[in-house]
Amino acid sequence: MTWKLTKTEIDNQNLLLDESLLSLGNGYLGVRGNFEEGYNSGFSSIRGTYINAFHDETEISYGEKLHAFPDIQQKILNVIDAQTINIYLDDEHFSLFDGEVLHLERNLHMDAGYSERIVHWKSARGKEVKIHFKRVISFVTKELFAIEVKIVPLNNIQQVKIVSVVDGNVSNFVDPNDPRVASGHATRLRISEIRKEENFSIVKNITFATKLEVACVTSSMIDIDDYEYASNITESSVEETYLYKGNEPIQFTKFNVYTDTLRHGNAVVDEALSIQEQLKEISFEDLLIKQKEYLDKFWSIADVKIGGDTSLQEGIRFNLYQLLQSVGKDSVSNIAAKGLSGEGYEGHYFWDTEIYIFPVFVMTNPELAKNLLIQRYSILDSARARAKEMGHKKGALFPWRTITGPESSAFFPAGTAQYHISADIAYSYIQYYLVTKDDSFLMDYMAELLFETARLWIDTGHMKDGQFRIDSVTGPDEYTCIVNNNYYTNVLAKNNLLWAAKAYNLLKEKDNKVLGELSDRLQLTELEVIEWVSAGEKMYLPYDERYKINAQDDSFLQKDRWDFENTPKEKFPLLLNYHPLTLYRYQVCKQADTVLAHFLLEDEQDLETMNSSYNYYEQITTHDSSLSSCIFSVMASKLGDNAKAYDYFGKTARLDLDNTHGNTKDGLHMANMGGTWIAIVYGFAGLRVKENGLFLSPSLPELWDSLEFNLQYQNRTINIQMERSTVTYSLVEGESLTISHKGEMIELESGKLLKMAL
Ligand code: BGC
Repeated sequence: MTWKLTKTEIDNQNLLLDESLLSLGNGYLGVRGNFEEGYNSGFSSIRGTYINAFHDETEISYGEKLHAFPDIQQKILNVIDAQTINIYLDDEHFSLFDGEVLHLERNLHMDAGYSERIVHWKSARGKEVKIHFKRVISFVTKELFAIEVKIVPLNNIQQVKIVSVVDGNVSNFVDPNDPRVASGHATRLRISEIRKEENFSIVKNITFATKLEVACVTSSMIDIDDYEYASNITESSVEETYLYKGNEPIQFTKFNVYTDTLRHGNAVVDEALSIQEQLKEISFEDLLIKQKEYLDKFWSIADVKIGGDTSLQEGIRFNLYQLLQSVGKDSVSNIAAKGLSGEGYEGHYFWDTEIYIFPVFVMTNPELAKNLLIQRYSILDSARARAKEMGHKKGALFPWRTITGPESSAFFPAGTAQYHISADIAYSYIQYYLVTKDDSFLMDYMAELLFETARLWIDTGHMKDGQFRIDSVTGPDEYTCIVNNNYYTNVLAKNNLLWAAKAYNLLKEKDNKVLGELSDRLQLTELEVIEWVSAGEKMYLPYDERYKINAQDDSFLQKDRWDFENTPKEKFPLLLNYHPLTLYRYQVCKQADTVLAHFLLEDEQDLETMNSSYNYYEQITTHDSSLSSCIFSVMASKLGDNAKAYDYFGKTARLDLDNTHGNTKDGLHMANMGGTWIAIVYGFAGLRVKENGLFLSPSLPELWDSLEFNLQYQNRTINIQMERSTVTYSLVEGESLTISHKGEMIELESGKLLKMAL
């Protein structure tokens, strides 16, 4: 049951909202919206297609142009819309907004990878029809988006007309009142080619500034012989009309192949045509079979089974499914904050990838995780250029928001100033190495990235009174900007610096020649490595004696506390109701900051400090960002407050399914979706991956009967089943391994179940 997400509401508001929930993608192509007819929220996008034409003040969030270095504005663009299929019954247009909807059912099949809509409709003049739509975006042929429509006339219908459209005139959505949505101009691609060739409809678009092309080549088919066919080319679309004079059930199929310059080179139309050629013998049913095979493989490792709570079970599966759909699978694309489900945050990649989403993939599908890291590596040159632009002599500064490299933040205090993203990326590289022990990754990507990010910290920070300090940066909490010594930033920079030195020594040990070549290319000296160690070891980590907590930064605890008691509920999220400068003057957090640092690098502090810090920051955190609750859940688990851990977890698992943040229409909250998994696996099961191995410290939430999941670790698959009083570990694949269970070292052997007390 929980593999099928069903919605049956008919009211229009829900129809619009639910489009994000039913969206489909495959890490490259995303499609949502437009129930064939009725409203224009059609959305389809291809990652990595971007333009950089805009950097005027309308692009600056919060309506103010505050700095002299406007950043290039990249954004995800909606591409050629091949979704529209208009259906006429005796010339009456089928539309959910006319006539009477007798039954409407929308299903997302998470085990099979397609969505469907089943509608029983009665027209204004009393014609009745059942229509069954199925849509699939192939995981196997990533360029393919296919639709199947079955039309069953029920009474007194003489003819059915299908008008299938491929439309190149598509624009983006903007909302000037919400900084979380694009605020500038409604962007549009230019149509550069539009024609029919044999059975194919061909539309090609090009970006204005960067001249990237995207093509859609469509073929369609109807399963009857006696129909009349016509095609028409308008200024912006190709339309095909199939007229059937009869009332037998008919089936219409549409295969849309999308190609783009970044992935397919310059001959995008030819490439799409050749993919169409390969698909010639493939039916819609064949596609579904292949799709299911792909998903069977995915779920066999990634599934998390919750015994005793079907609603949360549905939530976690939905979240995992959406993560899989949205994550880049070819290292050309990464994963956007809203995935491929909506246009919020303009399709940008943030630190959300490394800290919230990557952990899921690295432990369940390291190949996909590696793609994310390589995509970041592919923009290392942009990060080096950005560091220079920002006045650094050396190093790489990763952009806070980007698609293909340039910084696309509009508001630098809560954008570029979040230097921690460079340490976050380094952190994910280190985690990948710990999980895979992949030495070729160390040589090919990791060492260079760690060296360049370490250099950034040396150039940004400075030694004072024997301590290494980092001034004027913004930590994760966006309600506190441009501060000195943000604990999170400093501790992650420390990790980055010390690991850069470790990577240097590892490389020296494993392949000195590779190290020599890399050092030459980067003009790296041993002296720099010594400096990294020294800065790392002397990193200043703010601590307050009075409260026994890590201060979020140097000035945080000196500020007045936000007046929560007198802030009405409707004023949240605060960012929509108060000027940022007002927020910066108070102790108020948008999201986990120091608490997150305690989760990521727990060995830096003792339990008492983490506990007091948790209690302190919890009082002043609004969780206005959806990246927050999951982290408070993990840390509550760590600190032994299981009730609280469960409570925070409950806020994450169904955030989009139940639209608890009220903005799912702009797209799903992907970081939170990863956060749900993190709250279960790192929280309830207490997983940590450290240099000295794998640590688990499981405790099952009181309301659950059981919990089961798998981990991939150094070429092994480990299955973990938690029940009320026991946990069973089994090594499904790979060589024996010693892990820590609640501090006790236990040996996992192939084919043996190891039962431990909870
Ligand atoms: C959060 C950021 C996050 C961004 C995209 C913001 O609201 O404060 O931490 O990266 O959303 O999800």
